[in-house]
Amino acid sequence: MYFISTRGDEKVTGAQAIALALAKDGGLFVPETFPQLTRDDLEKMSEMNYPERAAYVLSKYLDDLGEEFILDACKKAYETFEGEDPIPLVRINEGLYILELYHGPTCSIKDVSLTLFPQLLKRSMELLGYNEEVLLLAATSGDTGKATLQAFRDVKGTKVAIFYPDEGVAKMQKIQICTQSGDNLNVSAIKGNFDDCQRAVRKLFADKDFNEKLQNEGVRLSSTNSMNIARLLPQIAYYFSAYLDLATSDQIEMGDEIDFAVPTGNFEDVLAGWYAKKMGLPIRRLICASNRNRALADFLKTGSYNVKRNFFRTMSPSIDVLLSVNLERLLFEVCGRKADVIADRMKNLSENGEYSITQAELKAIHNDFYGGYATEDGTVEAMYDIFEEYGYAMDTHTGVATAVCYTYRDKEVDEKDRTPLIILSTANPYKFPQDVLYALSGNDVKDSFKGIKRLNLLTAMKPPKCLMELRYKPLRFKGALQNDVKKMSDAVLAFVGGEIVPEPKSEK
Ligand SMILES: *Cc1c(COP(=O)(O)O)cnc(C)c1O
Repeated sequence: MYFISTRGDEKVTGAQAIALALAKDGGLFVPETFPQLTRDDLEKMSEMNYPERAAYVLSKYLDDLGEEFILDACKKAYETFEGEDPIPLVRINEGLYILELYHGPTCSIKDVSLTLFPQLLKRSMELLGYNEEVLLLAATSGDTGKATLQAFRDVKGTKVAIFYPDEGVAKMQKIQICTQSGDNLNVSAIKGNFDDCQRAVRKLFADKDFNEKLQNEGVRLSSTNSMNIARLLPQIAYYFSAYLDLATSDQIEMGDEIDFAVPTGNFEDVLAGWYAKKMGLPIRRLICASNRNRALADFLKTGSYNVKRNFFRTMSPSIDVLLSVNLERLLFEVCGRKADVIADRMKNLSENGEYSITQAELKAIHNDFYGGYATEDGTVEAMYDIFEEYGYAMDTHTGVATAVCYTYRDKEVDEKDRTPLIILSTANPYKFPQDVLYALSGNDVKDSFKGIKRLNLLTAMKPPKCLMELRYKPLRFKGALQNDVKKMSDAVLAFVGGEIVPEPKSEK
């Protein structure tokens, strides 16, 4: 299978797409075709466990990496998840289910692809005969950062530089990122919000001077951000797996259509669902849920994308995003794969902060997607309702998706509609203890660990060890850089050159 750029005629192998992250023309890599999984494939996959199902899907795309390797990599990755089933599907009531994607080592959905990432990268480098050191750059709204740091900690031949918006991540996320040990890792706060941070990292990635200097140091540049297809592809698998869990437990018949609801920021997770549909999974509709930062919801309604608007800080910071990078991949498909059209629109977006698509394109999108947004109050209410009625505690991002589902079911589908709905749960509630505690009980606490304690008393849900053990760890990375490519470049080059000597590991 080859991968092609959304903005030009570049065509590369899977290994190249992973190692390069971004096409030279600035576009994103997408699969040249969508492999089809037939009814027979689904029957076969029903018998498999999660790592086997994931490998089955991934092998269709990354055939150059080898089936055996991929199966082994998936086993190793999902072994690090808590519990017997790494990605369990929880039944809330007749027709409503929650897929818990947060049982990995850093308690968010990002672990699903980032526990695999180092293995996929290493294999790709070997296949390509690259033996330089790799520098991985990433901007994070909270979860990608920690999952990347954890996955690459002390991985030979790699260095990682993470940038996060100084005012844009939740308290516990900041604790997770800034207490991370590992000599090959660096973290910098950037002044501004996540969009600013993401834009700056993308600029740095494309900066000629920076790239030349890295080359002189013998360092290759890549990224663990969702522009890399190694992030996107592993996420397709859990849509299949959740569907098969419903079918094998006789809650649907094989072939029945279902809906998925996804809290959305950079449009990666929900796009993986659309890829699953393109591969033949019977998905009726993907519910794309935004919080107050509703550029996507407005786009899905009107066909005009406009990021010139206020950026809000919400209690679902991982989806505080206006500029959703992976939307480009969907637009590429619905415009009939016209790279020049996409290049034009993306130019418009970066210069004027907006673009519009045609009504025909919008209609095609409406076939597969419903876009909605939740206010902060609406989110709290949805979280409280589900807890009160079913005793189920969810995090704030899952709360956003649940709130949008209420609107969807009220407004968009017939009362008699019984299509099953799966809500993707993207973070452990304990990652946002104060906000979850507030939503479920009205109780307000300042300290994250006090929040955890109270939430535990309220829900009887076990707090994850990986968060509890951070309590007495000192913050290792402090201060914030100006949002300036030169400053960021200097900081990263100093780190790569060994000038920034990480402080000695202090565990307590
Ligand atoms: C990354 C993330 C999402 C989904 O974001 P996309 O960029 O749209 O894939 C949702 N919730 C949480 C908690 C996340 O970390």
